[in-house]
Amino acid sequence: MATGNATTDTLMPFLFDNSYSRLPDAFFSLIKPTPVSAPVMIRLNHELATELGIDIARLDSPEGLAILSGNHRPEGSEPLAMAYSGHQFGGFSSHLGDGRAILLGEVIGKEGIRYDIQLKGSGPTPFSRRGDGRSALGPVLREFIVSEAMAALGVPTTRALAAVASGDKVVRDGIEPGGVFTRVANSHIRIGTFQWFAAREDYDNLKILADYVVDRHYPDAQKEENPYRALLDGVIGRQANLIAHWMQLGFIHGVMNTDNMTVSGETIDYGPCAFLDNYEAAKTFSSIDQQGRYAFGNQGPIGHWNLTRFAETLLPLLDNNPKRSIAAAEAALGHFPGLYQNALQKRFTAKIGIESGDTSDWSMVEKLLAAMADGEADFTQVFRHLPESLESGNDHVVAGLFNQPETIVAWLSTWRARLHQLDRNQALALMRRTNPVFIPRNHRIEEAIQAGNSGDFTLFRQLHQILQNPFTEQAEFTEYEATPTPAEVVRKTFCGT
Ligand code: AMP
Ligand code: MG
Repeated sequence: MATGNATTDTLMPFLFDNSYSRLPDAFFSLIKPTPVSAPVMIRLNHELATELGIDIARLDSPEGLAILSGNHRPEGSEPLAMAYSGHQFGGFSSHLGDGRAILLGEVIGKEGIRYDIQLKGSGPTPFSRRGDGRSALGPVLREFIVSEAMAALGVPTTRALAAVASGDKVVRDGIEPGGVFTRVANSHIRIGTFQWFAAREDYDNLKILADYVVDRHYPDAQKEENPYRALLDGVIGRQANLIAHWMQLGFIHGVMNTDNMTVSGETIDYGPCAFLDNYEAAKTFSSIDQQGRYAFGNQGPIGHWNLTRFAETLLPLLDNNPKRSIAAAEAALGHFPGLYQNALQKRFTAKIGIESGDTSDWSMVEKLLAAMADGEADFTQVFRHLPESLESGNDHVVAGLFNQPETIVAWLSTWRARLHQLDRNQALALMRRTNPVFIPRNHRIEEAIQAGNSGDFTLFRQLHQILQNPFTEQAEFTEYEATPTPAEVVRKTFCGT
Protein backbone atom coordinates (compact mmCIF):
# COMPACT_ATOMS: atom_id res chain seq x y z
CA MET A 1 0.00 0.00 0.00
CA ALA A 2 1.32 3.43 -0.88
CA THR A 3 1.44 5.31 2.38
CA GLY A 4 3.22 8.52 3.24
CA ASN A 5 4.19 8.70 -0.36
CA ALA A 6 3.54 11.65 -2.67
CA THR A 7 1.88 9.40 -5.24
CA THR A 8 -0.98 8.67 -2.80
CA ASP A 9 -2.53 12.06 -3.54
CA THR A 10 -2.57 11.61 -7.27
CA LEU A 11 -4.16 8.17 -6.76
CA MET A 12 -7.13 9.49 -4.80
CA PRO A 13 -10.08 7.31 -5.75
CA PHE A 14 -12.67 9.80 -4.49
CA LEU A 15 -12.84 13.49 -5.35
CA PHE A 16 -14.71 14.60 -2.28
CA ASP A 17 -16.79 17.75 -2.11
CA ASN A 18 -18.43 17.74 1.30
CA SER A 19 -21.46 19.98 1.69
CA TYR A 20 -22.91 18.36 4.83
CA SER A 21 -19.77 18.95 6.85
CA ARG A 22 -20.08 22.66 6.01
CA LEU A 23 -23.41 22.80 7.85
CA PRO A 24 -23.42 23.94 11.51
CA ASP A 25 -21.88 21.70 14.16
CA ALA A 26 -25.30 20.74 15.52
CA PHE A 27 -25.87 18.56 12.44
CA PHE A 28 -23.23 15.92 13.18
CA SER A 29 -20.26 14.71 15.20
CA LEU A 30 -16.89 14.49 13.53
CA ILE A 31 -15.63 10.96 14.08
CA LYS A 32 -13.11 8.73 12.34
CA PRO A 33 -13.77 5.10 11.44
CA THR A 34 -12.10 2.59 13.75
CA PRO A 35 -9.74 0.26 11.87
CA VAL A 36 -10.51 -3.44 11.44
CA SER A 37 -7.93 -6.22 11.69
CA ALA A 38 -7.83 -8.13 8.43
CA PRO A 39 -10.06 -6.66 5.72
CA VAL A 40 -10.87 -8.68 2.62
CA MET A 41 -12.86 -7.31 -0.32
CA ILE A 42 -15.89 -9.48 -0.99
CA ARG A 43 -17.41 -7.40 -3.73
CA LEU A 44 -16.65 -4.05 -5.25
CA ASN A 45 -19.38 -2.63 -7.47
CA HIS A 46 -17.51 -1.58 -10.61
CA GLU A 47 -20.63 -0.44 -12.49
CA LEU A 48 -21.71 1.86 -9.68
CA ALA A 49 -18.20 3.22 -9.22
CA THR A 50 -18.17 4.14 -12.89
CA GLU A 51 -21.56 5.89 -12.60
CA LEU A 52 -20.12 7.86 -9.73
CA GLY A 53 -17.16 8.92 -11.84
CA ILE A 54 -14.77 6.98 -9.60
CA ASP A 55 -11.70 5.56 -11.24
CA ILE A 56 -12.23 1.88 -10.53
CA ALA A 57 -8.59 0.96 -10.99
CA ARG A 58 -7.77 3.30 -8.14
CA LEU A 59 -10.48 1.94 -5.90
CA ASP A 60 -9.78 -1.70 -6.73
CA SER A 61 -6.42 -1.55 -5.01
CA PRO A 62 -4.93 -2.15 -1.57
CA GLU A 63 -5.46 1.54 -0.81
CA GLY A 64 -9.10 1.28 -1.92
CA LEU A 65 -9.63 -1.70 0.38
CA ALA A 66 -8.04 0.22 3.25
CA ILE A 67 -10.45 3.12 2.63
CA LEU A 68 -13.53 0.92 2.29
CA SER A 69 -12.75 -0.94 5.51
CA GLY A 70 -12.21 2.27 7.48
CA ASN A 71 -8.49 1.65 7.92
CA HIS A 72 -7.28 4.59 5.87
CA ARG A 73 -8.80 8.04 5.73
CA PRO A 74 -8.74 9.20 2.15
CA GLU A 75 -7.64 12.66 1.20
CA GLY A 76 -10.54 15.10 1.27
CA SER A 77 -12.73 12.99 3.54
CA GLU A 78 -14.24 14.68 6.60
CA PRO A 79 -15.79 11.69 8.33
CA LEU A 80 -18.85 12.37 10.45
CA ALA A 81 -21.85 10.74 12.10
CA MET A 82 -25.16 12.43 11.32
CA ALA A 83 -27.57 13.43 14.08
CA TYR A 84 -31.20 12.33 13.86
CA SER A 85 -34.18 11.34 15.95
CA GLY A 86 -37.01 9.02 15.02
CA HIS A 87 -40.31 7.39 15.77
CA GLN A 88 -39.55 3.70 16.23
CA PHE A 89 -42.68 1.52 16.16
CA GLY A 90 -44.64 4.63 17.04
CA GLY A 91 -42.54 5.74 20.05
CA PHE A 92 -40.33 8.81 19.75
CA SER A 93 -36.56 8.66 20.45
CA SER A 94 -35.04 12.10 20.30
CA HIS A 95 -31.45 10.85 20.32
CA LEU A 96 -30.63 8.27 17.61
CA GLY A 97 -28.11 9.32 14.96
CA ASP A 98 -25.52 7.27 13.09
CA GLY A 99 -24.50 4.74 15.71
CA ARG A 100 -22.76 2.37 13.33
CA ALA A 101 -22.35 4.45 10.20
CA ILE A 102 -19.90 7.16 9.24
CA LEU A 103 -20.25 9.50 6.29
CA LEU A 104 -16.87 9.66 4.54
CA GLY A 105 -17.91 12.50 2.29
CA GLU A 106 -19.72 13.36 -0.92
CA VAL A 107 -18.79 12.98 -4.56
CA ILE A 108 -20.37 14.45 -7.67
CA GLY A 109 -21.37 11.68 -10.06
CA LYS A 110 -21.14 11.71 -13.83
CA GLU A 111 -24.52 13.34 -14.26
CA GLY A 112 -23.72 16.14 -11.86
CA ILE A 113 -25.64 14.50 -9.02
CA ARG A 114 -24.18 14.65 -5.52
CA TYR A 115 -23.85 11.34 -3.65
CA ASP A 116 -22.99 10.43 -0.08
CA ILE A 117 -20.34 7.76 0.47
CA GLN A 118 -20.97 6.15 3.85
CA LEU A 119 -19.34 3.29 5.71
CA LYS A 120 -21.64 1.08 7.77
CA GLY A 121 -20.18 -1.02 10.57
CA SER A 122 -17.08 1.16 10.82
CA GLY A 123 -16.94 1.52 14.59
CA PRO A 124 -18.53 3.47 17.42
CA THR A 125 -19.67 7.09 17.22
CA PRO A 126 -21.07 9.45 19.85
CA PHE A 127 -24.51 8.11 18.80
CA SER A 128 -23.73 4.44 19.43
CA ARG A 129 -25.34 4.29 22.88
CA ARG A 130 -24.81 0.69 23.98
CA GLY A 131 -24.13 -0.60 20.47
CA ASP A 132 -20.69 -1.59 19.22
CA GLY A 133 -20.82 0.45 16.01
CA ARG A 134 -20.14 -2.72 14.07
CA SER A 135 -22.07 -4.81 11.62
CA ALA A 136 -22.18 -8.55 11.25
CA LEU A 137 -21.29 -9.85 7.81
CA GLY A 138 -24.79 -11.30 7.24
CA PRO A 139 -26.57 -7.93 7.16
CA VAL A 140 -23.80 -6.56 4.90
CA LEU A 141 -24.38 -9.32 2.35
CA ARG A 142 -28.15 -8.92 2.66
CA GLU A 143 -28.05 -5.17 2.06
CA PHE A 144 -25.69 -5.62 -0.88
CA ILE A 145 -27.92 -8.17 -2.59
CA VAL A 146 -31.25 -6.52 -1.90
CA SER A 147 -30.35 -2.89 -2.52
CA GLU A 148 -28.64 -3.75 -5.81
CA ALA A 149 -31.60 -5.94 -6.80
CA MET A 150 -33.96 -3.07 -6.01
CA ALA A 151 -31.89 -0.75 -8.22
CA ALA A 152 -32.02 -3.29 -11.06
CA LEU A 153 -35.79 -3.58 -10.53
CA GLY A 154 -35.99 0.19 -11.08
CA VAL A 155 -36.81 1.19 -7.50
CA PRO A 156 -35.24 4.37 -6.06
CA THR A 157 -32.80 3.10 -3.47
CA THR A 158 -29.50 3.57 -1.72
CA ARG A 159 -26.79 1.57 -3.46
CA ALA A 160 -24.01 -0.81 -2.53
CA LEU A 161 -20.48 0.19 -3.50
CA ALA A 162 -18.59 -2.44 -1.54
CA ALA A 163 -18.84 -5.30 0.93
CA VAL A 164 -15.77 -6.03 3.01
CA ALA A 165 -15.15 -8.83 5.52
CA SER A 166 -13.46 -7.19 8.50
CA GLY A 167 -11.61 -10.17 9.91
CA ASP A 168 -13.08 -9.29 13.33
CA LYS A 169 -15.85 -11.02 15.24
CA VAL A 170 -19.01 -9.35 16.45
CA VAL A 171 -21.27 -10.58 19.22
CA ARG A 172 -24.94 -10.81 18.22
CA ASP A 173 -27.08 -13.86 19.00
CA GLY A 174 -23.82 -15.71 18.94
CA ILE A 175 -20.39 -14.78 17.66
CA GLU A 176 -20.44 -13.83 13.99
CA PRO A 177 -17.94 -12.60 11.43
CA GLY A 178 -17.97 -8.82 11.00
CA GLY A 179 -18.25 -6.72 7.88
CA VAL A 180 -18.13 -3.18 6.57
CA PHE A 181 -20.58 -2.00 3.94
CA THR A 182 -20.15 1.06 1.74
CA ARG A 183 -23.48 2.70 1.08
CA VAL A 184 -24.11 5.30 -1.58
CA ALA A 185 -27.16 7.55 -1.39
CA ASN A 186 -28.53 10.72 -2.90
CA SER A 187 -28.35 11.66 0.75
CA HIS A 188 -28.85 10.10 4.15
CA ILE A 189 -31.20 12.81 5.36
CA ARG A 190 -34.24 11.26 6.97
CA ILE A 191 -37.55 12.46 8.35
CA GLY A 192 -35.76 11.83 11.64
CA THR A 193 -33.14 14.46 10.75
CA PHE A 194 -35.90 17.09 10.71
CA GLN A 195 -37.27 15.64 13.93
CA TRP A 196 -33.87 16.12 15.61
CA PHE A 197 -34.13 19.90 15.27
CA ALA A 198 -37.90 20.11 15.77
CA ALA A 199 -37.61 18.14 19.04
CA ARG A 200 -34.97 20.61 20.26
CA GLU A 201 -37.02 23.61 19.09
CA ASP A 202 -33.93 24.63 17.16
CA TYR A 203 -35.77 26.45 14.39
CA ASP A 204 -32.73 28.22 12.97
CA ASN A 205 -31.06 24.93 12.17
CA LEU A 206 -34.37 23.43 11.07
CA LYS A 207 -34.57 26.17 8.44
CA ILE A 208 -30.95 25.58 7.41
CA LEU A 209 -31.75 21.88 7.00
CA ALA A 210 -34.91 22.58 4.98
CA ASP A 211 -33.02 25.00 2.71
CA TYR A 212 -30.24 22.46 2.26
CA VAL A 213 -32.72 19.73 1.30
CA VAL A 214 -34.54 22.01 -1.12
CA ASP A 215 -31.25 22.94 -2.74
CA ARG A 216 -30.01 19.35 -2.93
CA HIS A 217 -33.16 17.36 -3.69
CA TYR A 218 -35.99 19.70 -4.69
CA PRO A 219 -34.37 22.61 -6.57
CA ASP A 220 -37.66 23.42 -8.34
CA ALA A 221 -39.23 24.21 -4.97
CA GLN A 222 -37.05 27.31 -4.80
CA LYS A 223 -39.13 28.88 -7.55
CA GLU A 224 -42.40 28.31 -5.68
CA GLU A 225 -44.09 30.99 -3.64
CA ASN A 226 -43.74 28.79 -0.53
CA PRO A 227 -40.66 26.55 -0.99
CA TYR A 228 -41.33 24.66 2.26
CA ARG A 229 -44.83 23.73 1.16
CA ALA A 230 -43.32 22.63 -2.15
CA LEU A 231 -40.75 20.59 -0.22
CA LEU A 232 -43.50 18.88 1.77
CA ASP A 233 -45.49 18.20 -1.40
CA GLY A 234 -42.35 16.86 -3.06
CA VAL A 235 -41.50 14.42 -0.28
CA ILE A 236 -45.12 13.25 -0.09
CA GLY A 237 -45.19 12.68 -3.86
CA ARG A 238 -41.93 10.72 -3.95
CA GLN A 239 -42.81 8.57 -0.94
CA ALA A 240 -46.29 7.76 -2.29
CA ASN A 241 -44.72 6.55 -5.49
CA LEU A 242 -41.89 4.72 -3.74
CA ILE A 243 -44.16 2.74 -1.43
CA ALA A 244 -46.48 1.86 -4.33
CA HIS A 245 -43.40 0.61 -6.15
CA TRP A 246 -42.51 -1.65 -3.21
CA MET A 247 -46.05 -3.00 -3.25
CA GLN A 248 -45.84 -3.71 -6.96
CA LEU A 249 -42.89 -6.01 -6.30
CA GLY A 250 -44.11 -7.62 -3.09
CA PHE A 251 -41.40 -5.91 -1.06
CA ILE A 252 -41.82 -5.49 2.69
CA HIS A 253 -39.47 -2.93 4.17
CA GLY A 254 -39.99 -4.26 7.66
CA VAL A 255 -38.91 -1.31 9.77
CA MET A 256 -40.51 1.88 8.47
CA ASN A 257 -39.49 4.02 11.42
CA THR A 258 -39.21 7.73 10.63
CA ASP A 259 -35.42 7.49 10.90
CA ASN A 260 -35.54 4.91 8.11
CA MET A 261 -37.43 7.09 5.62
CA THR A 262 -35.40 9.43 3.42
CA VAL A 263 -36.54 12.83 2.24
CA SER A 264 -34.90 12.12 -1.14
CA GLY A 265 -37.43 9.33 -1.76
CA GLU A 266 -34.91 6.50 -1.82
CA THR A 267 -35.46 3.19 -0.06
CA ILE A 268 -33.07 3.02 2.89
CA ASP A 269 -32.19 0.54 5.62
CA TYR A 270 -32.42 -3.05 4.46
CA GLY A 271 -32.66 -4.62 7.89
CA PRO A 272 -35.46 -7.13 8.32
CA CYS A 273 -36.81 -6.56 4.79
CA ALA A 274 -38.23 -9.45 2.79
CA PHE A 275 -40.17 -10.26 -0.36
CA LEU A 276 -43.54 -11.98 -0.33
CA ASP A 277 -43.60 -15.58 -1.37
CA ASN A 278 -47.33 -16.33 -1.17
CA TYR A 279 -49.47 -13.24 -1.39
CA GLU A 280 -50.80 -12.19 2.01
CA ALA A 281 -51.67 -8.56 2.78
CA ALA A 282 -51.11 -8.98 6.53
CA LYS A 283 -47.68 -10.55 6.09
CA THR A 284 -44.78 -9.48 8.31
CA PHE A 285 -41.38 -11.14 8.54
CA SER A 286 -39.59 -8.96 11.05
CA SER A 287 -39.05 -10.68 14.38
CA ILE A 288 -39.60 -7.38 16.22
CA ASP A 289 -42.83 -6.37 14.45
CA GLN A 290 -45.22 -8.21 16.69
CA GLN A 291 -48.26 -6.01 16.06
CA GLY A 292 -47.89 -6.07 12.28
CA ARG A 293 -47.36 -2.31 12.22
CA TYR A 294 -45.17 -2.65 9.13
CA ALA A 295 -47.12 -5.46 7.46
CA PHE A 296 -47.10 -5.61 3.66
CA GLY A 297 -50.55 -4.07 3.24
CA ASN A 298 -49.97 -1.46 5.91
CA GLN A 299 -47.02 0.22 4.22
CA GLY A 300 -49.08 2.92 2.48
CA PRO A 301 -50.93 4.01 5.65
CA ILE A 302 -47.69 3.91 7.66
CA GLY A 303 -46.01 6.06 5.03
CA HIS A 304 -48.83 8.57 5.52
CA TRP A 305 -48.32 8.45 9.29
CA ASN A 306 -44.59 9.07 8.89
CA LEU A 307 -45.19 11.95 6.49
CA THR A 308 -47.52 13.47 9.05
CA ARG A 309 -44.61 13.46 11.50
CA PHE A 310 -42.52 15.13 8.78
CA ALA A 311 -45.17 17.81 8.19
CA GLU A 312 -45.26 18.53 11.92
CA THR A 313 -41.56 19.37 11.87
CA LEU A 314 -42.17 21.88 9.06
CA LEU A 315 -44.97 23.78 10.83
CA PRO A 316 -42.68 26.64 11.98
CA LEU A 317 -41.56 27.14 8.38
CA LEU A 318 -44.81 26.74 6.48
CA ASP A 319 -46.35 29.98 7.67
CA ASN A 320 -45.86 32.60 10.39
CA ASN A 321 -49.46 32.11 11.39
CA PRO A 322 -49.87 28.76 13.20
CA LYS A 323 -53.43 28.22 11.94
CA ARG A 324 -52.45 28.79 8.35
CA SER A 325 -49.43 26.59 8.87
CA ILE A 326 -51.53 23.68 10.09
CA ALA A 327 -53.98 24.21 7.24
CA ALA A 328 -51.12 24.04 4.72
CA ALA A 329 -49.74 20.85 6.29
CA GLU A 330 -53.18 19.25 6.33
CA ALA A 331 -53.82 20.20 2.73
CA ALA A 332 -50.51 18.66 1.65
CA LEU A 333 -51.07 15.48 3.69
CA GLY A 334 -54.61 15.21 2.35
CA HIS A 335 -53.15 14.48 -1.08
CA PHE A 336 -51.28 11.40 0.07
CA PRO A 337 -54.11 8.82 -0.02
CA GLY A 338 -55.11 9.79 -3.56
CA LEU A 339 -51.53 9.92 -4.84
CA TYR A 340 -50.77 6.57 -3.29
CA GLN A 341 -53.93 4.90 -4.53
CA ASN A 342 -53.39 6.21 -8.07
CA ALA A 343 -49.79 5.01 -8.08
CA LEU A 344 -50.85 1.63 -6.72
CA GLN A 345 -53.59 1.21 -9.30
CA LYS A 346 -51.36 2.20 -12.18
CA ARG A 347 -48.61 -0.15 -11.03
CA PHE A 348 -50.94 -3.09 -10.45
CA THR A 349 -53.00 -2.73 -13.61
CA ALA A 350 -49.64 -2.65 -15.46
CA LYS A 351 -48.91 -6.03 -13.87
CA ILE A 352 -51.95 -7.46 -15.65
CA GLY A 353 -51.03 -5.78 -18.94
CA ILE A 354 -53.23 -2.68 -18.81
CA GLU A 355 -51.49 0.65 -19.24
CA SER A 356 -54.29 3.04 -18.41
CA GLY A 357 -56.75 1.10 -16.37
CA ASP A 358 -60.15 2.18 -15.07
CA THR A 359 -62.02 1.23 -11.90
CA SER A 360 -63.21 -2.06 -13.33
CA ASP A 361 -59.58 -2.97 -14.13
CA TRP A 362 -58.62 -2.18 -10.55
CA SER A 363 -61.40 -4.37 -9.24
CA MET A 364 -60.08 -7.13 -11.50
CA VAL A 365 -56.70 -6.70 -9.76
CA GLU A 366 -58.39 -6.90 -6.37
CA LYS A 367 -60.13 -10.12 -7.37
CA LEU A 368 -56.84 -11.60 -8.51
CA LEU A 369 -55.16 -10.69 -5.22
CA ALA A 370 -58.06 -12.17 -3.27
CA ALA A 371 -57.78 -15.38 -5.28
CA MET A 372 -54.04 -15.44 -4.64
CA ALA A 373 -54.58 -15.03 -0.91
CA ASP A 374 -57.19 -17.83 -0.85
CA GLY A 375 -55.18 -20.09 -3.09
CA GLU A 376 -51.83 -19.44 -1.36
CA ALA A 377 -50.28 -18.51 -4.67
CA ASP A 378 -46.78 -17.13 -5.10
CA PHE A 379 -47.03 -13.39 -5.84
CA THR A 380 -44.08 -13.13 -8.21
CA GLN A 381 -44.73 -16.37 -10.07
CA VAL A 382 -48.37 -15.64 -10.83
CA PHE A 383 -47.64 -12.31 -12.49
CA ARG A 384 -44.54 -13.59 -14.20
CA HIS A 385 -46.54 -16.33 -15.93
CA LEU A 386 -49.52 -14.22 -16.99
CA PRO A 387 -48.01 -13.39 -20.40
CA GLU A 388 -47.89 -17.10 -21.28
CA SER A 389 -51.56 -17.46 -20.41
CA LEU A 390 -52.37 -14.63 -22.75
CA GLU A 391 -50.21 -15.95 -25.56
CA SER A 392 -51.26 -19.58 -25.43
CA GLY A 393 -54.74 -19.30 -23.95
CA ASN A 394 -53.59 -22.13 -21.73
CA ASP A 395 -54.30 -21.75 -17.99
CA HIS A 396 -52.28 -24.70 -16.91
CA VAL A 397 -49.15 -22.98 -15.55
CA VAL A 398 -50.90 -20.15 -13.71
CA ALA A 399 -53.68 -22.36 -12.32
CA GLY A 400 -51.04 -24.77 -11.06
CA LEU A 401 -49.81 -22.08 -8.68
CA PHE A 402 -53.13 -21.99 -6.79
CA ASN A 403 -54.52 -24.37 -4.21
CA GLN A 404 -58.01 -23.76 -5.59
CA PRO A 405 -57.62 -23.43 -9.35
CA GLU A 406 -61.36 -22.91 -10.12
CA THR A 407 -61.43 -19.24 -9.07
CA ILE A 408 -58.35 -18.38 -11.03
CA VAL A 409 -59.48 -20.18 -14.16
CA ALA A 410 -62.65 -18.04 -14.16
CA TRP A 411 -60.58 -14.92 -13.52
CA LEU A 412 -58.18 -15.71 -16.38
CA SER A 413 -60.97 -15.95 -18.91
CA THR A 414 -62.47 -12.58 -17.84
CA TRP A 415 -59.00 -11.07 -17.97
CA ARG A 416 -58.26 -12.42 -21.43
CA ALA A 417 -61.56 -11.07 -22.70
CA ARG A 418 -60.60 -7.64 -21.36
CA LEU A 419 -57.16 -7.80 -22.97
CA HIS A 420 -58.66 -8.71 -26.33
CA GLN A 421 -59.83 -5.09 -26.46
CA LEU A 422 -56.22 -3.91 -26.23
CA ASP A 423 -53.04 -4.26 -28.26
CA ARG A 424 -51.77 -7.70 -27.40
CA ASN A 425 -48.09 -7.07 -28.04
CA GLN A 426 -48.14 -3.92 -25.97
CA ALA A 427 -49.84 -5.76 -23.13
CA LEU A 428 -47.26 -8.55 -23.27
CA ALA A 429 -44.35 -6.10 -23.31
CA LEU A 430 -45.86 -4.11 -20.43
CA MET A 431 -46.25 -7.22 -18.27
CA ARG A 432 -42.76 -8.40 -19.09
CA ARG A 433 -41.12 -5.16 -18.09
CA THR A 434 -43.28 -4.83 -14.96
CA ASN A 435 -43.25 -8.34 -13.51
CA PRO A 436 -39.83 -9.65 -12.55
CA VAL A 437 -38.78 -13.22 -13.20
CA PHE A 438 -36.26 -13.03 -10.37
CA ILE A 439 -36.57 -11.35 -6.97
CA PRO A 440 -34.18 -11.75 -4.04
CA ARG A 441 -36.05 -14.64 -2.47
CA ASN A 442 -35.65 -14.79 1.29
CA HIS A 443 -34.45 -18.39 1.33
CA ARG A 444 -31.86 -17.66 -1.34
CA ILE A 445 -30.53 -14.72 0.65
CA GLU A 446 -30.32 -16.87 3.78
CA GLU A 447 -28.49 -19.56 1.88
CA ALA A 448 -25.99 -17.01 0.50
CA ILE A 449 -25.45 -15.53 3.97
CA GLN A 450 -24.90 -18.90 5.58
CA ALA A 451 -22.29 -19.85 3.02
CA GLY A 452 -20.73 -16.37 3.34
CA ASN A 453 -20.45 -16.77 7.09
CA SER A 454 -18.31 -19.83 6.43
CA GLY A 455 -16.15 -17.91 3.98
CA ASP A 456 -17.73 -19.12 0.73
CA PHE A 457 -19.10 -16.25 -1.36
CA THR A 458 -20.00 -18.22 -4.47
CA LEU A 459 -23.76 -18.17 -3.79
CA PHE A 460 -23.64 -14.50 -2.82
CA ARG A 461 -21.94 -13.59 -6.11
CA GLN A 462 -24.26 -15.79 -8.12
CA LEU A 463 -27.41 -14.39 -6.54
CA HIS A 464 -26.19 -10.85 -7.04
CA GLN A 465 -25.36 -11.61 -10.67
CA ILE A 466 -28.76 -13.17 -11.48
CA LEU A 467 -30.55 -10.21 -9.91
CA GLN A 468 -28.78 -7.74 -12.16
CA ASN A 469 -31.26 -8.73 -14.89
CA PRO A 470 -34.42 -9.47 -12.93
CA PHE A 471 -36.82 -9.14 -15.87
CA THR A 472 -34.91 -11.51 -18.16
CA GLU A 473 -35.38 -15.27 -18.25
CA GLN A 474 -32.09 -17.01 -17.50
CA ALA A 475 -32.49 -20.63 -18.51
CA GLU A 476 -29.55 -21.87 -16.43
CA PHE A 477 -30.98 -20.35 -13.24
CA THR A 478 -34.67 -21.30 -13.31
CA GLU A 479 -34.37 -22.80 -9.81
CA TYR A 480 -33.87 -19.24 -8.52
CA GLU A 481 -37.39 -18.39 -9.70
CA ALA A 482 -38.96 -21.03 -7.53
CA THR A 483 -41.02 -20.45 -4.44
CA PRO A 484 -39.39 -22.06 -1.40
CA THR A 485 -40.19 -25.62 -0.43
CA PRO A 486 -41.87 -25.90 3.02
CA ALA A 487 -38.46 -26.66 4.56
CA GLU A 488 -36.90 -23.60 2.89
CA VAL A 489 -39.53 -21.03 3.86
CA VAL A 490 -38.09 -18.12 5.84
CA ARG A 491 -40.61 -17.06 8.48
CA LYS A 492 -38.62 -14.50 10.42
CA THR A 493 -36.08 -11.88 9.52
CA PHE A 494 -33.90 -9.91 11.92
CA CYS A 495 -32.58 -6.38 12.09
CA GLY A 496 -29.09 -7.68 12.47
CA THR A 497 -28.05 -4.70 14.56
P1 AMP B 1 -31.69 0.75 12.57
O1 AMP B 1 -32.43 -0.34 13.23
O2 AMP B 1 -30.60 0.25 11.68
O3 AMP B 1 -32.57 1.70 11.85
O4 AMP B 1 -30.93 1.57 13.71
C1 AMP B 1 -31.61 2.30 14.68
C2 AMP B 1 -30.62 3.06 15.52
O5 AMP B 1 -29.76 2.16 16.24
C3 AMP B 1 -29.69 3.98 14.74
O6 AMP B 1 -29.45 5.11 15.54
C4 AMP B 1 -28.45 3.14 14.60
O7 AMP B 1 -27.29 3.90 14.37
C5 AMP B 1 -28.40 2.42 15.93
N1 AMP B 1 -27.66 1.16 15.85
C6 AMP B 1 -28.05 0.03 15.24
N2 AMP B 1 -27.11 -0.94 15.35
C7 AMP B 1 -26.09 -0.42 16.06
C8 AMP B 1 -24.82 -0.91 16.50
N3 AMP B 1 -24.40 -2.16 16.25
N4 AMP B 1 -24.04 -0.07 17.21
C9 AMP B 1 -24.43 1.19 17.47
N5 AMP B 1 -25.60 1.71 17.08
C10 AMP B 1 -26.43 0.93 16.38
MG1 MG C 1 -31.82 3.01 10.43
